[in-house]
Amino acid sequence: MSKSESLFAEAQKVIPGGVNSPVRAFRAVGGTPVFIERAEGAYLFDADEKRYIDYVQSWGPMVLGHAHPDVIEAVIEQAQSGLSFGAPTELETELAEELCRLWPNMELVRFVNSGTEATMSAIRLARGHTGRDKIVKFEGCYHGHSDSLLVKAGSGALTMGVPSSPGVPAALADHTITLTYNDIEGVKQCFAEIGEQIACIIVEPVAGNMNCIPPVPGFLETLREVCDQSGAVLILDEVMTGFRVSLTGAQGYYGIEADITTLGKVIGGGMPVGAFGGKREIMEKIAPLGPVYQAGTLSGNPMAMVAGLETLQLIQQPGLYDELTAKTDRLVDGVLAAAKEAGIPLTANKVGSMFGFFFTDAEQVSNYQQVMACDTERFNRFFHGMLDEGVYLAPASYEAGFMSAAHSDEDIDNTIAAARRVFASLS
Ligand code: PLP
Repeated sequence: MSKSESLFAEAQKVIPGGVNSPVRAFRAVGGTPVFIERAEGAYLFDADEKRYIDYVQSWGPMVLGHAHPDVIEAVIEQAQSGLSFGAPTELETELAEELCRLWPNMELVRFVNSGTEATMSAIRLARGHTGRDKIVKFEGCYHGHSDSLLVKAGSGALTMGVPSSPGVPAALADHTITLTYNDIEGVKQCFAEIGEQIACIIVEPVAGNMNCIPPVPGFLETLREVCDQSGAVLILDEVMTGFRVSLTGAQGYYGIEADITTLGKVIGGGMPVGAFGGKREIMEKIAPLGPVYQAGTLSGNPMAMVAGLETLQLIQQPGLYDELTAKTDRLVDGVLAAAKEAGIPLTANKVGSMFGFFFTDAEQVSNYQQVMACDTERFNRFFHGMLDEGVYLAPASYEAGFMSAAHSDEDIDNTIAAARRVFASLS
């Protein structure tokens, strides 16, 4: 029995399914999750000291790679001054200033402890601001696990086969309208019918929780347009794409303006954090300035703030995002070529340092239906083959992959070579 297997057996005695977030349990791909002991740069090391080249990167935050020495030093230094005060600190202002400076549509920003809290609060704010109840989301997009947003959701909800979770009151789910991602006409029709009842649209500007689906040209622009016409708030959920597809997220990448932006992952450098921010006239409705309530014991805590500040400093080195994109291209092109050699039908999407592979004959995958039609059984065999080879991919076919600044060309070439061997065993 491996150490991971015995640790998993122990964990299942005291934690539901042995994990604190469902996809980690490997239910989709089968087998035993690897238990991680430490991480460094591009690598994870499991409890049996096996090394993996990691393309999950803690589900996105570690854009610099794991345990960057400057981030770790900043956290250690802060820890010596205290872990949490429950009172304002200058650090919060510094991180807020940095976000407002970098993101042109962000005039005020509030810190929370997770992406879920950020999107949940953003929706409450949009409802409070407009006085309307209905929200629009897209099938296969995941915005965390708050009630209103667990309707036809992606990521683990999709993997576990419960995109619309039991426990969400029907009365609440009735207020969530779910449309098809990248279906421009569907959006226009919905707003033509009931636009004046809709508080907000919430969308992943690049969908990263049904694998990786970029927006088709005109999709995000249409969302902006219908919100402007109807008075609905446009929430761009950049928890995943923020500081990942570019320094200014998908908004900078596609030139689209949000009313409210939600952030998480990278802005905490690996510590628990989230944020929502945007136009002053909307953000001023939040307590204590306005009547929409939102709070948090550990919100803006100094450990997360210093990890975020240090990370944001480091990712502003000139050329970092070009490098990330070039590395992602190298990986995706190499893996596609290896699949072709082996006669395995495979296609891919990529934006900045996000990518996704699809086991399908389709030339392009741009919506939820196409994602669901992919060969998940073949993905699962690919996943386990790669894991054996020392490459850690997300343990479900509905998740995007991530490149980090710490991955070397050699790591990438080793990954491609591993994929070539695994494809040979699949065909
Ligand atoms: N929004 C998006 C786009 C996400 O990808 C995620 C998590 O993966 C969330 C929100 C929820 O963030 P958290 O897991 O920090 O609650």
